[in-house]
Amino acid sequence: MSAISKHWDQLTAGVECSTLAHPGKTCHDHILFQLRTTVWGNMQFFIPVSILRLFLLVYSRKSISWQTLRQTLFEFGCMVLNGWAVSNSWSVCFCAFYHGFQRVINNYSVSLAALPGTLLIFWMPHYVQMSHSRGIFNVFVECWLKSREHPLIQWARESRTIGTGAFMLISALIGFFAQRTKAVEFWFFAPLKKTNNDQHNNPCYHRSTCQNYILDGMKTCFTFGMILELARKLISSAPKIRQNPATFFRLFARIRYKFVAFLTLYNGLFRLVTCFLARHRRKVSDYDSTIAGLISGLAYSLSPNFNVFGLAVTAMIQNIWNFISEKYARLDGIKWFNRLSFSSIVWVILANYNMYSRAYYPYAMSKYALKFTDVCSNSQSRTASECLAKLFLVTN
Ligand SMILES: [Zn+2]
Ligand SMILES: [Zn+2]
Repeated sequence: MSAISKHWDQLTAGVECSTLAHPGKTCHDHILFQLRTTVWGNMQFFIPVSILRLFLLVYSRKSISWQTLRQTLFEFGCMVLNGWAVSNSWSVCFCAFYHGFQRVINNYSVSLAALPGTLLIFWMPHYVQMSHSRGIFNVFVECWLKSREHPLIQWARESRTIGTGAFMLISALIGFFAQRTKAVEFWFFAPLKKTNNDQHNNPCYHRSTCQNYILDGMKTCFTFGMILELARKLISSAPKIRQNPATFFRLFARIRYKFVAFLTLYNGLFRLVTCFLARHRRKVSDYDSTIAGLISGLAYSLSPNFNVFGLAVTAMIQNIWNFISEKYARLDGIKWFNRLSFSSIVWVILANYNMYSRAYYPYAMSKYALKFTDVCSNSQSRTASECLAKLFLVTN
């Protein structure tokens, strides 16, 4: 499919914006229709996302309050507005570029039409910026890995051993950098750090017994894994459940229990190894988290998947960045970079790349990524991708 991009000029000579984006409709009718229908499309996608967010906030704060509800509702509104803006920016600019240049110009029209809409992220709340940039980075890693045609990469991505080995290394790096930074990034394990009020005789840095500490971590990861899986299924099955509420119970049968087992075991192994090492030599060393990260990474072989792999790459990069920016905090370049919203820049670049992939590499995108791009754009992206593929088949 990447051939489309290379032979773009030949393929699209005489092609109008309607041929690719809105067959059978005028630009005016199409844009009005999109502006209206994408409100509900985005709400549909972000309702389950916000329910998951509410669950996790209540779980971590151990209480439910008006403030938590208000916060979730506000973030929900922001996410819907953001998704709506990106989708409609694409539709409006695709047609506008066509009328401006009198032809469909490859990268401007397909990849950059969403650019004005993606800039809205700079005004979004911190949670939206962070969750969106992580999400889109995950989609990018998966799509990039799956769309590489090099035989070595093809072989590596099929191999469970290579995948597990790579995950173990990434996990070790997360352990290494997370132990050396003050900032705490979301990940399925967190190295314990010594605090000034630690006055117990335990060689590990936790107050409870090692056994309780390990079991607590496993319990949290199990609960988190189950909530995450239910939410994931809820997002993809929401329309079916609305038609027939009884199908809700079928979700439990389709949960990836191996994935939940991986999360539980991953955290449990990490805690077990750090406790073992600390108790063995009666003190914590700087490398315990690295060793524990490496060994616990073995659990990945239970449920290798691109989603977790992408999340790990994200967590690794964030931890490395935190380490660099804490260590060199006084450098002007670092100060300047920290003032910019790094996550928002990542989102802007990758959300536009996502549009490009949806058109040219739809086969390499995860089902989830295809789904959110299609639902949030009320199938506009699918229509464009299909029209493009048809054009390619007809001309060949
Ligand atoms: Zn048009
Ligand atoms: Zn311990």
